[in-house]
Amino acid sequence: MALAIDDSCINCDMCVPECPNEAIAMGRKHYQIDTDLCTECEGFYDSPTCIAVCPLDSIHRLKGT
Ligand code: SF4
Ligand code: SF4
Repeated sequence: MALAIDDSCINCDMCVPECPNEAIAMGRKHYQIDTDLCTECEGFYDSPTCIAVCPLDSIHRLKGT
């Protein structure tokens, strides 16, 4: 799965506890999504819940996926 957090992330922590797969962790500058763990919330939510809770629209699907 391919979701990514961009540089607009302010590390507000909103998305981290919402992820059912613990796929979001702090990277070098801001939170990042482990694409091996992210299932785009399949089986838990109808759409990626991290995108829904992010106040800054910092999480995006990568192009071509
Ligand atoms: S889409 Fe769902 S599984 Fe993937 S990082 Fe976001 S909250 Fe976690
Ligand atoms: S909710 Fe958005 S701004 Fe907050 S930590 Fe997650 S990606 Fe960053």
